[in-house]
Amino acid sequence: MIVFNPSKTGPLRFVPSFERAVGGAELNFAIGITRLDMEARWISCIGDDEFGKVIYNFARGEGVDVSHVSRTPNIPTSIYFKEIGEDGAGKSFYYRKPSPLLELTADCLDESVLDGVDLLHISGVYLAVCEHNIEVALKLVHFAKVKNIPVSFDPNLRLKLWTIEDARAAYEKLYSSVNLLLTGQDEFELLFEGRTVKGVQQQYQIDEIIIKKGEQGASVYTATEQYDRAAFSIRAIDTVGAGDAFDAAYVYGYLNGDDIPERLRLANGAGALVATIKGDNEGLPSLQELKQFIGDEKLIER
Ligand code: ATP
Repeated sequence: MIVFNPSKTGPLRFVPSFERAVGGAELNFAIGITRLDMEARWISCIGDDEFGKVIYNFARGEGVDVSHVSRTPNIPTSIYFKEIGEDGAGKSFYYRKPSPLLELTADCLDESVLDGVDLLHISGVYLAVCEHNIEVALKLVHFAKVKNIPVSFDPNLRLKLWTIEDARAAYEKLYSSVNLLLTGQDEFELLFEGRTVKGVQQQYQIDEIIIKKGEQGASVYTATEQYDRAAFSIRAIDTVGAGDAFDAAYVYGYLNGDDIPERLRLANGAGALVATIKGDNEGLPSLQELKQFIGDEKLIER
């Protein structure tokens, strides 16, 4: 999506101007991965219009493989406006119906879309946008299972896009295929209504449930262990995108063969860095920036 960032904090009705940028959970995640020197392929459909060109070129410029991003002349590229509170917390106002994703159906995809892929990541926002997107996701998950590729999933619950009941019903179809479930604490409580993480993990046989807790850091639950790690101490400016950055760094560590405490350290670092910079993906760190921030490499300014 195109995102319009406000020129000042506070309610949008008092914000006179905006700066155009590019956002969206899936693309943020893909850019998070490429900044960490891994390859990412983004599967999507955007409008074949001026804003679509901005997104396409931006993704390509970040090194994301856009060979599976189609462009339609029939539906305009989606946009959203962001409101930022004094504490850095963000609110989103969407203009995305109909979505170009209406033209990306399950028939558009064959198994080769996952050739050379080590992990499939799905964001729940995608599932909220068009009814048929769950079919597309299930087809991709099926290809992943055939190819023995792990699946990570972030519910990214957006109650402005659909009801909690519809979200639960769609996600339910995915959980038992998910290896890494990356979710916010409030989101987990809303989705699973008072059930324990352990109970959910056992029911769906999810290898790892990763709970993101904002300034409290994050926890990981496996079948046998629980790991808790505090967040890095920062002054948050804009927390939108922190979760996507966290996901990307966690998956990076997972694919790199790092142990869970190390993945948590990387992920908490990436999330914190994004929260210190205005914009959804501007703050996504390079591998070197991340290592400097978490103290693994010395920062030499001049
Ligand atoms: P979103 O989907 O809005 O990006 P989320 O709920 O998925 O959010 P958060 O828990 O808000 O994700 O943030 C993800 C991670 O980023 C946290 O687990 C933490 O590591 C880091 N983070 C976020 N906010 C802060 C903060 N104020 N201080 C330090 N670290 C933060």
